[in-house]
Amino acid sequence: MKISIKDITSSVDKTEKHQGSFDLDAFDYLGSNFSINSTKPFEVVLSMLGNKKLRIGFNTTVNITGQCDRCLTDVVFDVDANVEETLDISDGQVVVDEEIGPYSFVDGEDIDIDELILNEILVNFPAKILCQDDCKGICPVCGKNRNIEPCSCDDTVLDPRMAQFLDVFNSFKEVK
Ligand SMILES: [Zn+2]
Ligand SMILES: [Zn+2]
Repeated sequence: MKISIKDITSSVDKTEKHQGSFDLDAFDYLGSNFSINSTKPFEVVLSMLGNKKLRIGFNTTVNITGQCDRCLTDVVFDVDANVEETLDISDGQVVVDEEIGPYSFVDGEDIDIDELILNEILVNFPAKILCQDDCKGICPVCGKNRNIEPCSCDDTVLDPRMAQFLDVFNSFKEVK
């Protein structure tokens, strides 16, 4: 959702509350696709501090479905989004920092709540998405999901240290 900040930025010491919503269905991150199942209800609080600063604050939790990094089965997990931003305001307009450039979530007289939440999700994203801590992954030789059906291929990849090595190897491939 987008919220207009036109009125509040020309006010002094004013606070507004808005019923929030997160309107994205899905997003891509590091080459994988994630779908958004639900978002905990939240209220966006906008506060003018005097007439020079606008504070934007809210907290929510987003329920996401992605795929296990090792075996690719679906994994459902929560990520918190705790947003706290303060914008400098001058003459009712958001001041653009010359070094940082315009804020990506400020679009004219609107702030983009979806973008603020997505940024926060990516900051708090789990380093590893696993269906279970000791997921045995997919056998690189025969392609079977080893959590479901053990296979008799070369056993070295069953060693969890090897599985970790494969994770590093896979993420290294993604970076390239
Ligand atoms: Zn798994
Ligand atoms: Zn196998």
